[in-house]
Amino acid sequence: MSVRVVFEKNTYLNDVQEIPRAFFPYLEWDDNGENYLSWNYSVSGKTFVFNVESDIFGNATYRCDFDESNEIIFKRKTKYFAKNSLYTFLSDALGIELPYGSLTGVRPTVMYNELAKTSADPKDTLVKDYRVLPSKAELVACCAEYQKKFINRDEKAVGLYVNIPFCPTRCSYCSFISTEVFRIKKDLPKYVECVRKDIETSFEIVRDKGYNVRSIYVGGGTPTSIGAGFLSDILEPLSSCGCEFTVECGRPDTINEDIVNALKKNNVTRLSVNPQTFHQRTLDLIGRKHTVKDIYDAFALVRDKGFSVNCDLIAALPEETFEDFRFSLDEALSMRPENITVHTLSIKRGSDLNRDKTTKKTGGEALRMTDYSYSTLSKAGYSPYYMYRQKNTADNLENTGFCRDDKVCLYNVDTMEESCCVIGCGAGAVSKKLAAGGKITRFSNPKGLREYLERHSDVIGELKDFFIND
Ligand code: SF4
Repeated sequence: MSVRVVFEKNTYLNDVQEIPRAFFPYLEWDDNGENYLSWNYSVSGKTFVFNVESDIFGNATYRCDFDESNEIIFKRKTKYFAKNSLYTFLSDALGIELPYGSLTGVRPTVMYNELAKTSADPKDTLVKDYRVLPSKAELVACCAEYQKKFINRDEKAVGLYVNIPFCPTRCSYCSFISTEVFRIKKDLPKYVECVRKDIETSFEIVRDKGYNVRSIYVGGGTPTSIGAGFLSDILEPLSSCGCEFTVECGRPDTINEDIVNALKKNNVTRLSVNPQTFHQRTLDLIGRKHTVKDIYDAFALVRDKGFSVNCDLIAALPEETFEDFRFSLDEALSMRPENITVHTLSIKRGSDLNRDKTTKKTGGEALRMTDYSYSTLSKAGYSPYYMYRQKNTADNLENTGFCRDDKVCLYNVDTMEESCCVIGCGAGAVSKKLAAGGKITRFSNPKGLREYLERHSDVIGELKDFFIND
């Protein structure tokens, strides 16, 4: 179906159009589309009137009185009313409820905390006012309440992020800027040298600003794909920070004894072994190029070495049923990692899967999978501690990090709740500064490897300027 969206100026277009996108993730928005959906609003005194018209779904008018003199708050309230109205219109017309109702463009935990300021029961408000499914409202509430004790309160705290954007092969669902490591072999020594200089610069910034390093996260990509020698060169200057120190090993086929020794020697405290699934046919289908046995072997290598281990799974992978997912979750759980992160497949524009329209799936199976994760992991002593949602996710669902025994990843909490400054090292890494009043400013290193290497002395200068000369 191709749909022409007709709107009038200032109709909260960006926010409101997320609602039909959530119902029809793969809808073609076409100026010449044969069907149309349009909305507009008017304000008369305290009364806000929202009209929706469509040749397929019919027409409706929603109105509400807002006794609010503050212009910003009035705008915020009427925007939610407009979104809720369009949600109600489409949900009634289609007979479909979305797991997160009209919640789009806002992190669910942030919304929960916002509602908690005025509502005695924010979970109930999510269900009643925003049409969030009770199981999802429960997940959001549990996550928001659990993470409270881990939210950063130190305004001098900073996280260090180091980006190693290389992988052994490219997964078909990947939308990150990550290059297969064999393609950049000759640039690798220079890349490592530049990243080390970024790290040195980070410590200059830390000293100058009086920051306290709260966490370090080496991600990508698959940092361990560069081999133990290069990896050690990058980890060594970070090894004496004495804080949470994560390395995203990710692909099980990159984890071997040399890598584990390098991580241990450099005081890494947390790592990930990411199966995504325990089914060989799916691994082959999504281009992971490793075996199920590699997953068990990698776990055996990192277990009982004092690391906190995370394990990523993806719900709604191509051709997987609920039973397939259940098996994978149960297998991961049987290894008792400290963290299990359950993602829902999100098909982004840049991924190979996006080109293969046949693998796009919705229809309730993913919802069963994520609900199963929550109930099973809760019973097994895991708590959801951070969550986020992305666009184009199967069944419009979420990604949730679960932990046991309070073994959270502070870096993840800080990133999702935007509660801590970050200094980014390496190509494409993003630095973040929080100012009083909650204003956030960002600075991004060049994304492309070539530009990052060629402009590196400028990049260092710009990074320092961003933090020191404000
Ligand atoms: S391991 Fe991660 S970053 Fe690398 S190709 Fe796969 S999804 Fe992309």
